[in-house]
Amino acid sequence: MERVVIIGSGPAGLTAAVYAARANLSPLVLAGGLYGGQLMLTTDVENYPGFPEGILGPDLMERFREQAERFGARIENVDATAVDFSKTPLLVRTADAEYAAKTAIVATGASARWLGIPGEARLRGRGVSTCATCDGAFFREKHIVVVGGGDSAMEEALFLTRFGRRVTVMHRRGALRASKIMADRARAHPKIDFMWHTTVEEVLGETHVRGLRVRNLLDDNVFDFDADALFIAIGHTPNTAIFDGQLDLDPAGYIVSPDGVSTNVEGVFVAGDVNDVRYKQAITAAAAGCRAAMDAEKHLEAMEFAVSMSS
Ligand code: NAP
Repeated sequence: MERVVIIGSGPAGLTAAVYAARANLSPLVLAGGLYGGQLMLTTDVENYPGFPEGILGPDLMERFREQAERFGARIENVDATAVDFSKTPLLVRTADAEYAAKTAIVATGASARWLGIPGEARLRGRGVSTCATCDGAFFREKHIVVVGGGDSAMEEALFLTRFGRRVTVMHRRGALRASKIMADRARAHPKIDFMWHTTVEEVLGETHVRGLRVRNLLDDNVFDFDADALFIAIGHTPNTAIFDGQLDLDPAGYIVSPDGVSTNVEGVFVAGDVNDVRYKQAITAAAAGCRAAMDAEKHLEAMEFAVSMSS
């Protein structure tokens, strides 16, 4: 019987692992095949306290992992494929194993959203991407389009200027959602231009992206626009498919929690972007992981005390 199973290995999951491990709970972390969360797809992280020079996302996650392992967290790079939280012990399944646990911390994060337009799936990996750090280097001296108006879009656009000869940010409105500092940086960059009130309707090309069919939302004009790559940065969807029917989810799929830690199931706690519709920062996820681990520890103490009193 595991005392704590942590599902997910971004800042939330691994901070929960550090705290649970330091409380001598020897947590099992089901880190996922693509472990480390979204920071693994990021370049410079400049707003994580303690790193005044900034740090690369994957390096930061490696440090989180080392810290958790140093105190005895057991980290498996496997996906949780199903859970049964209907009774105690809680059950968490992977492709090859089933774990029974007294408490669980869900920190499965969120995944990048796609536009769902014709050509997008066909050309994924052939010019269509949601990860500039993964795919940007394939588009040296090319014209790259980034869709979105938030911080992610600005970050992707700025990063892509390292490779592309020109980066066009297409946004469906006339004002950015991004923070001022990121928006100002993107606006000031000589390689970046903006197309406002514009949506992408179709990705053109058979074997690689050769252009986009776009619509100007002000005059409804549809036209083809030359581009060699399309990077989509339009937000994220919470990774909660395996919890559907097990935990209360809101209409967008985020796990519902009255206090940002507990869930509708006793002994199951939540942390990070999977419950965070508002902040979605590495530091807020890490803080949530800390809270979840501390509450899981208290819950275990109460559970184990009750058992010792009854025997
Ligand atoms: P976001 O803030 O939700 O922005 C998503 C953007 O995509 C919005 O501009 C939205 O347009 C647009 N969009 C959504 N669906 C679309 C669709 N179907 N077609 C076209 N455009 C669409 O998401 P995010 O940029 O990923 O940021 C999420 C959070 O992470 C934020 O809190 C952000 O501050 C944080 N973040 C921070 C940093 C950093 O500080 N370095 C970097 C990345 C992310 P509308 O504006 O019209 O809604």
